[in-house]
Amino acid sequence: MKKIAVLTSGGDAPGMNASVRAIVRKSIYHELQIYGIMRGFQGLINGEIKAMRLGSVADTIHRGGTILLTARSPEFLTAEGQAKGIAFLQQEELEGLIIIGGDGSFRGAGVLEAAGIKTVGIPATIDNDIPFTDNCIGFDTALNTVTDAINRVRDTATSHERVYVIEVMGRDSGHIALLAGLAGGAESIIVPEVPFDLAEVCSRLTRGVERGKLHSIILVAEGAGSAIQIAKDIEELTRMEVRVTILGHLQRGGTPTAYDRILASRLGARAVDLLMEGTSGVMVGYYQAGIQVIPYGDVFANEKSFSWEDYKLAGILAI
Ligand code: ATP
Repeated sequence: MKKIAVLTSGGDAPGMNASVRAIVRKSIYHELQIYGIMRGFQGLINGEIKAMRLGSVADTIHRGGTILLTARSPEFLTAEGQAKGIAFLQQEELEGLIIIGGDGSFRGAGVLEAAGIKTVGIPATIDNDIPFTDNCIGFDTALNTVTDAINRVRDTATSHERVYVIEVMGRDSGHIALLAGLAGGAESIIVPEVPFDLAEVCSRLTRGVERGKLHSIILVAEGAGSAIQIAKDIEELTRMEVRVTILGHLQRGGTPTAYDRILASRLGARAVDLLMEGTSGVMVGYYQAGIQVIPYGDVFANEKSFSWEDYKLAGILAI
């Protein structure tokens, strides 16, 4: 293999740049020609490509977002769009493609793979909803951002003796809410994986007030319901003053943590090795204390497991 490319796709995640950097530098180390495709799969359709050199990734390891830009490409969901992308890769004589993104992006990779293009996927999404990797690139940074936000909200919550409902990202999964709730000492954690019991949330609040608690933090994953509605319902039931903070896209940005940079560097470097060895149609993850290589089919057929142990622990510690 002599000529390969990398693209970032789906939602951006802190650490994507560290992964691109590792891919570029590892490729150059092995004397491969390495190219960046801009704007994910849309860049394949539009033919947006640039040669990457050592300096192309200088000063990027600490930057959030992605220097290759990212996009959601509805056109790549069509047979016509896919044919254009495949034709472009063939025309450029690109033999392998590394795709940094979420499970949707791996489905796109699967389409290319079926057309004979060698691909390797690297999991990067703050939602952390991909199986066979403990963490996806970006999750640790988002978790630290949310934990820091909880600390800040807690200061004002305590000073005014209020209840705060904080809504966090995660789409259909509650991983950010669960672990940030555990790290931030939230009183209740509301996630899509567990049926939500408003009466139990309210009775926790009342118990807290009775034993002299000055504040309460309730963490809501966006996929579990609206923080605004939950706050209204709690106010009605408890007559307490409840405020809402929706963290939104600030959870996506920021300098990646050391953990995310290391994960991104390891997975990026391994992805290049895999293409050189002729292995493709796989995702590289960090799982069971080592780098693992998982066929896309297994990734699609499984769901990331929800940590019931952590959920129970968070409930016990917030007793
Ligand atoms: P995130 O978890 O951050 O949202 P993602 O990779 O899951 O990342 P998606 O928007 O689902 O994000 O997918 C990214 C892009 O991958 C889509 O815009 C589309 O171009 C391509 N893609 C998704 N699903 C498929 C599919 N079934 N077939 C071909 N391409 C797909």
